[in-house]
Amino acid sequence: MTPAQNSHSIESTLLSVRLKERIVRGGPMSVERYMDACLSDATAGYYPSKQPIGAGGDFITAPEVSQVFGELLGLWSYAVWQSMGSPEPVIFAELGPGRGTLMADALRALQRLPGFIGCADVVLVETSPLLRGVQQETLADCGTGISWRERIEALPPGPLIVIANEFIDALPIRQIVWRGGQWRERCVRIGANGGFEFCDGPVVASESLRRDAQLQQLPESSILEIRPAANATVAALADRARQAPLAALIVDYGHEATECGDTLQAVSRHKFADPLRDPGAVDLTAHVDFGALKDAAEAKGLRVYGPKPQGALLLELGLEARLEKLCEDATEEQRDALVSGTTRLVDPEAMGLLFKAMAIASPDIPPPPAFGQSA
Ligand code: SAH
Repeated sequence: MTPAQNSHSIESTLLSVRLKERIVRGGPMSVERYMDACLSDATAGYYPSKQPIGAGGDFITAPEVSQVFGELLGLWSYAVWQSMGSPEPVIFAELGPGRGTLMADALRALQRLPGFIGCADVVLVETSPLLRGVQQETLADCGTGISWRERIEALPPGPLIVIANEFIDALPIRQIVWRGGQWRERCVRIGANGGFEFCDGPVVASESLRRDAQLQQLPESSILEIRPAANATVAALADRARQAPLAALIVDYGHEATECGDTLQAVSRHKFADPLRDPGAVDLTAHVDFGALKDAAEAKGLRVYGPKPQGALLLELGLEARLEKLCEDATEEQRDALVSGTTRLVDPEAMGLLFKAMAIASPDIPPPPAFGQSA
């Protein structure tokens, strides 16, 4: 662990001071603004200033657990491209590529299949300059040109295939609290001990919420989470789908239907931490509400498939056959690592059930592989 990743880094302390200044001047700040600053502040934000992923970082993700994950997502993308009529060119984009491992594994699998690589325009959507550098290194020998964009809206026009693993969970959430028969924005203020603490903020008009949130009879203090940036991502996909075929595979951890509950969590060095301590130094995420994502996509005229458990997705995409093939040429030690990695991806007790996959596509293409029917 380098000093830059120490939870009491100078950057984190300075971000704390800046956030407190903002609160003193403007009053309590919403959880969404707090989370956004912690994750994205240009100098001290978690993603712009840290290399968080992997055994030496704060958390580990599916592509870092096993190469098979990215390879199978590559095969999924190939089959989708074929189902679109093998358009040329096709934009092959990844949202939030982390260390670039998923894309490297996907491209390696795609190199072995005819046609795709030659006509794919590979684009990574990444806001962190630091992680862009890491991705550049990981993908230096990937055999095809890569370009970067900061925002999904800036992707080149044309038929589009998108993959995104643990991207949505990193987008800021709003939390609203059911208190005394009203919804209130959950905010962050400065507590008596000088640290940050949660508090209730302004009343939120219930007409602005999804219908199921309006209708529920909820216990006092229930928390509902809303993710405006995820809706914006879906809206950007929908804009694209109006012009050319589109398919996106979103894999993340979360729940299938909208539920109340506080899922904001901080992780540091593979352990849970306090989300209100050390802003910018710890990873902040919250469960993905796949129900809300589905509603947002369908409201924009997109077709939604799933979500289905990550384990089921990978098994249907041929995980066992791929594992057997890899084991053929492996040493015993490598074989053990391959088996334990792939097991972790599909095991219901590990990542197999909590992580889910949802496909979002334009209505004019057939159901994507591993998603027989539209939801
Ligand atoms: N997909 C990777 C990494 C997930 S971590 C993996 O599976 O290993 C989240 C990633 O999303 C990081 O690369 C982070 O920098 C990026 N990110 C976070 N917010 C973003 C945003 N608003 N736009 C683009 N990328 C973002």
